Amino acid sequence: MAKIKIDINSGKVVKPNIVVGIDLGTTNSLVAWINPQTNKAEVIVDEWGALLPSVILLKPNSEPIVGVLAKETLLEAPERTIFSVKRLLGISQHEIASVQQFLGYHIVEDETDSMLRIQVDENFYNAVELSAMILRALKHKAEKVLGVQVFQAVISVPAYFNDSQRQATRDAGKLAGLNVLRIINEPTAASLSYGLGLNRTVSQTILVYDLGGGTFDISILQIEDGVFEVLATQGDTRLGGDDIDHSIMAFWQGKYPALVNCANPRDIQALRLLAETAKIFLSNNTDLIFTEWFEFSNNSAAQSEDIEPVKIEKVALSLDYGGLVTAAKALVLKTQACIVAALRDASLKPSDIQALVLVGGSTRYPEIPRVLSAQFPHLIINNFLNPDEVVALGAAIEADVLAGNREDILLLDITPLGLGIETAGGLMDLLIPRNTKLPCRVRREYSTSVDGQINLQIAVFQGERGMVKENRKLGEFILKGIPAMPAGFPKIEVIFALNADGLLTVYASELRSGVSQNIEIKPQYGLSDEELERMLLDGFEHAQSDLQARGLQETINEAQQLIYSVSRFIAKNTGMLSATQLADTMQRIDSLKRLLNIGSNKDALLQGITALNDFTRPFAENLMNIAVASALKGKEI
Ligand code: AMP
Repeated sequence: MAKIKIDINSGKVVKPNIVVGIDLGTTNSLVAWINPQTNKAEVIVDEWGALLPSVILLKPNSEPIVGVLAKETLLEAPERTIFSVKRLLGISQHEIASVQQFLGYHIVEDETDSMLRIQVDENFYNAVELSAMILRALKHKAEKVLGVQVFQAVISVPAYFNDSQRQATRDAGKLAGLNVLRIINEPTAASLSYGLGLNRTVSQTILVYDLGGGTFDISILQIEDGVFEVLATQGDTRLGGDDIDHSIMAFWQGKYPALVNCANPRDIQALRLLAETAKIFLSNNTDLIFTEWFEFSNNSAAQSEDIEPVKIEKVALSLDYGGLVTAAKALVLKTQACIVAALRDASLKPSDIQALVLVGGSTRYPEIPRVLSAQFPHLIINNFLNPDEVVALGAAIEADVLAGNREDILLLDITPLGLGIETAGGLMDLLIPRNTKLPCRVRREYSTSVDGQINLQIAVFQGERGMVKENRKLGEFILKGIPAMPAGFPKIEVIFALNADGLLTVYASELRSGVSQNIEIKPQYGLSDEELERMLLDGFEHAQSDLQARGLQETINEAQQLIYSVSRFIAKNTGMLSATQLADTMQRIDSLKRLLNIGSNKDALLQGITALNDFTRPFAENLMNIAVASALKGKEI
């Protein structure tokens, strides 16, 4: 196995000099590097500061705008201002309900497994493309400030991210022109920024407490031999400093009856910002009292931003530290309960924790370190670095280690090219991404797309391209004897196991019947360094066009599958549809088929899919209701 460093411009293998660490956050993102002069991790700061708001403004016919300027349009153009992309990464269409109510932009609805899509004007975007826009903005920021080109990065993700969310993050990095050396867990990065885990002879258990504006994460990590293992994660994706702000607002609304008339959205927003200012002021000055005049229109009918507020009212707001503690009490208690749950999940006692690391802006609230000291009296709390920066700093340290710039730390073997199988339409489905540590084992489930399919070909490929025809075929076998079942019913498990010597074993089995088959392959056999390098470079050069080709092929697959299942539905349930409904459905199927035949673009196909889907969904729901009603008939409820 090799550790490869390439210059994307020259195509030469080189020792890289610039490697960055990226904290790709829900609200803000940061990029950090190791300053060769000081040999210390530093966050890269431009004229906008260290933080890049993770907000994207998508205007017709122009390049996306990322950062502060995009954030400023959130109120004016919510339908084209995309925020919280990280919450969408790796989420499929049918998980949409968990996020849609919080977002101002339009998420396309269809109940399939395909990647969630956002529609702005006539265009559709997925979370990988949107994350790539943020990553590209960070890459440019680093290049502008450092005056050199940046091609390599380590990107952090939450410890609870699953395989598809991690893969989506890698894809986004590649699309942004970055060689993603590794995806690192945020708590691992935060620990590294405090030097934890850098000394390979020390084994320890660490608790990372991450409280931001809207999310809370607890991770318990075990470091052994410089390798971090996640023992437990707990948290709440809707808990954070924002809750304290809301609770201060509620306190003021109770204390000052005049605020009942404060109903204009802009006034409410201003009051929320004042609550946050009070919280931060009191966090930094616990013995002072926060006081501020608050002016607002008392015309509660003036809900719209366009209507000029008529009469101004004034209230002198005040809050002391005791008031802040009361407002924040529920939040603090919830985070403590999460710690207890995480310790229980990891079967540990508080005294087993040997280090505590604080991450996130809200850990500046003094009650947090205070209650943690009470919960872990034997520990000194690591909170002397900027809690907004520790993840990016740690990612930069990891990047430096992987680039081979730190002689004190040993690198683990990695696989230099991705490994995967061919799926419908010649797509490369990556099971083991490049740069994965060895040994590793990945499991994924597939199914059939046609009724009664009894054989399934498993073709194994190596490479960085989106379509298998551009990659290197390593071998194939046929899983035979699957019992005939309707399409989508068989559960076919594929396992890729890569051992420490780089030997790959691919297992396939149909779980309902137990039919199984496997092969052994040496992925690096017969592959020269030059070929390997060329395959890597190809992946980078074609990242953009590959993603487009892949997106188009996935949409074609989706369209074909939809035509297949709607046609099957009609054949089985003709009686349920009126003549007009039937004719209308057939006409939509025909126009989708026509779009497929003329090789239309992705957006046109997606519109055809949506048209057929929206029209036929009520039929399926109706069928379900009939089935339920007949099942309940004659039964007592
Ligand atoms: P993050 O998501 O990590 O950027 O954290 C943002 C949250 O930290 C927001 O709710 C801020 O109001 C909060 N925050 C920032 N500074 C302070 C401070 N000094 N005291 C309390 N909360 C703070």
